[in-house]
Amino acid sequence: MVTNPSSPSKNITHPLVNTLVQLQELILVRSEQDASMVDKHLSQLDNSIQALLNSIPKETHDLFQRIEKKDVLAIVPISNNVCSGCGLTLPVSLVYAVRAGEKLYQCTNCARILYYPEVRPRRISRKIHGRSEPRRSGIARFSSLSLMTPNLHSTDRDKVIEELAMKMEAEGFVDNGTKLVDAALEREAIMSTAVEHGIAFPHVRGVEGGGLTLALGINRKGIKFDSAERTLTHIVFFIVIPTAASVFYLRLLSGLTQTFLKKDTREKLIAAQTPEELWQVLVKTTRTTIK
Ligand SMILES: [Zn+2]
Repeated sequence: MVTNPSSPSKNITHPLVNTLVQLQELILVRSEQDASMVDKHLSQLDNSIQALLNSIPKETHDLFQRIEKKDVLAIVPISNNVCSGCGLTLPVSLVYAVRAGEKLYQCTNCARILYYPEVRPRRISRKIHGRSEPRRSGIARFSSLSLMTPNLHSTDRDKVIEELAMKMEAEGFVDNGTKLVDAALEREAIMSTAVEHGIAFPHVRGVEGGGLTLALGINRKGIKFDSAERTLTHIVFFIVIPTAASVFYLRLLSGLTQTFLKKDTREKLIAAQTPEELWQVLVKTTRTTIK
């Protein structure tokens, strides 16, 4: 990377940024629990969210909640001088001001609070489809036949996540599968993404570039996804989510949950023996739930 000689030599993170990022993460986790119809741990999450809200100054608290109510994402990273919430290229002076960290700044277009990530680029994912390809619809906008694994050979949570992440890398959907594994496990540490009926939704939010991408893996014997749960997981949706697609992800999650609440749709997925069959079942069963 070429450094601009007049750019600040180092970044100073505003003292509230980490709290706000953590707060937003918990709010998103809560929305995910809602979208996947999981009602356990909600009070625990609400308490943590409230504790963080109480720890920030009233002015910031009000600002955060005002943006969050409207847009879900209230704080977003700057990526290559672009607001990753709305895609606006920010004035260089604003980027420098954010990097100096003296106060909190908002995007001049979407009003979200901006921060400068310490490590960048965080995780680059490639474009899911070439521009010349026809517009797809339904689940095919986020996934493809090449991301179907009807017979996961891994037998534990971490290895299954790794198997699906490496599949994304091997098929050219992301550049670095290993980094995705670490990030997905960090998310699992906050709260397991395993839901009822033997389904899990491990995921990585905040990737740069590319589109919302989903890989599906089936393990017929079942794996222990959540150490506190006795139910084994058979169906694993591994999802990579660019910052700008966070809200869309919640809709996808809700569509998948709605589809696979039904026993017969889950059985069809589990019965698929080849990637072709699995893809066909996924496309068919989600036809009305994922637009
Ligand atoms: Zn913006």
